[in-house]
Amino acid sequence: MHGKATQPGTAQSAGFGPNGPRIVVIGSGVSGILAGVKLRERGWRDFVILEKAGALGGTWRDNVYPGVACDVPAHVYVYSFAPNPAWKTRYAKGPEIWQYYHDVAARSGVLDHIEYGKDVTNARFDGARWTVTTGDGSSYEADVVIAAAGRLRDPKLPQIPGMDSFAGPSFHTARWDKSVSLAGKRVCLIGAGSSGVQVLSAIAGEVAHITQFQRTPQWVMPVQDAPVPWWERLKYRLLPRTVHETYRKMLDFSNERGALAFESKEARAERDKMCSDALLRIRDPELRARLTPDYDVGCKRLVMSETWFEQVQRPNVSIVSEAIERIEPEGVRTTDGTLHACDILIYATGFDAHAYIRPMKLTGEDGVTLDALWEDLPLTYRSVSIPHMPNFFVLNGPSSPGGSASIVGIVETQWGYVAQLLEQVAAQGVTIAPREDRAREWLAEVRERAGKSVWATGGCQSWYLDKTGTPAYDAVSLPQLQSSLAAPKMDDFEVRAIPAR
Ligand code: NAP
Repeated sequence: MHGKATQPGTAQSAGFGPNGPRIVVIGSGVSGILAGVKLRERGWRDFVILEKAGALGGTWRDNVYPGVACDVPAHVYVYSFAPNPAWKTRYAKGPEIWQYYHDVAARSGVLDHIEYGKDVTNARFDGARWTVTTGDGSSYEADVVIAAAGRLRDPKLPQIPGMDSFAGPSFHTARWDKSVSLAGKRVCLIGAGSSGVQVLSAIAGEVAHITQFQRTPQWVMPVQDAPVPWWERLKYRLLPRTVHETYRKMLDFSNERGALAFESKEARAERDKMCSDALLRIRDPELRARLTPDYDVGCKRLVMSETWFEQVQRPNVSIVSEAIERIEPEGVRTTDGTLHACDILIYATGFDAHAYIRPMKLTGEDGVTLDALWEDLPLTYRSVSIPHMPNFFVLNGPSSPGGSASIVGIVETQWGYVAQLLEQVAAQGVTIAPREDRAREWLAEVRERAGKSVWATGGCQSWYLDKTGTPAYDAVSLPQLQSSLAAPKMDDFEVRAIPAR
């Protein structure tokens, strides 16, 4: 039956204790911490957060490369319920962001719920509840599972012949080896996306020479960072509402600059001009030509930097546009026969943006597996729930909004929707899963919308695109997402009473 429990259950018949349903949250990044804070706030204490690493923080734990920072304004990159009056700069650096999320988790009591070194490998639904298994052989029973495993999580190394032969240290930006000193060394840096641009800008002054391999030029938006003056920080502390107002204004700014389909023509024209004008700062016309993209601004995820334009013009920086042929012990050989010698090789080559909760194996009702269900496309309903996977919810999952807007506002909005479903689970003792037909209709809508966005029409390749060449991210603004996730339409769900224990 849709919308109503087949036979109304109760929290008691479902076996829920006074602390609410037993919940497993997978991942302790921005989304997992949010889930933990909100569950505790609701008084549901019977939950565990399984974290495969040895610390919380997701992206901000993994990305510790020099120059790591967030190009979303810091005052937007916070939970709405936990403004941070103390940001030191307009765009926060990675360690300060990690500290913010750690502090929110600590003061909300979430740290006590996290178990580290727990890599979830399997989750199986038995008709009533889930058994979640981790790589070390532990297993957890749960009425509800919330996957908060992140989107840009698994580093993607390129397939270049000879990679193993490099004589010096080599590593991905998201697996930075802090024991390696860069001072006075020759560095090869493969990749010119957001991470590559941040790394180059941060280390060019320290290394003897850096060669950045740029397969495709990126549009770079000049974004001015600046310290937040002490009096402004004081004002934020004394007048928290001021922080909130600033937050809203910056959110608008961020959305407007988010390179999404919903932008006004005027905003796009202004942003396009900022990006092309910024290239005029490159004095050498030959280099400028090589750094100029031949696709629309916003087609690839916009790179934001103020410093990069100067750093690439340093005498110890080379930008190489020839294709890479192979890696050799001494460096990187390009197809024109040149060997670019270096001591350290860094891969700023991005992430597998389409793994989502995989490689975890998920088996839902009637033995339906996630691998089978997602063989063609990652089918979800409104990104947060999956057909045949009762009481399994996802934050920042497939078909979440893409672009440069703050991910924090997105996952908070998704949580608001999931929380309403959880209330029904807890009050009625039911399982809830979306109807497959409604999920397919919704996904078709998302793909149609995304297919008209600049990610699809802008004439580029990017990690937004799935194997069919369609963007795997929804082209909606935060206000549009908020309105579409305001309240679940229960007719779109299968609701079943949980068999009594
Ligand atoms: P990315 O945007 O996917 O960039 C990867 C780079 O590596 C591209 O320049 C790509 O070239 C190049 N590349 C990949 N394989 C290659 C190969 N075989 N040979 C040569 N070049 C190769 O990855 P990212 O820079 O790590 O950024 C990923 C995302 O993380 C960003 O788009 C952003 O959403 C997020 N991020 C955000 C921030 C922030 O400040 N908020 C900072 C860092 C990252 P092609 O362009 O030709 O594919």
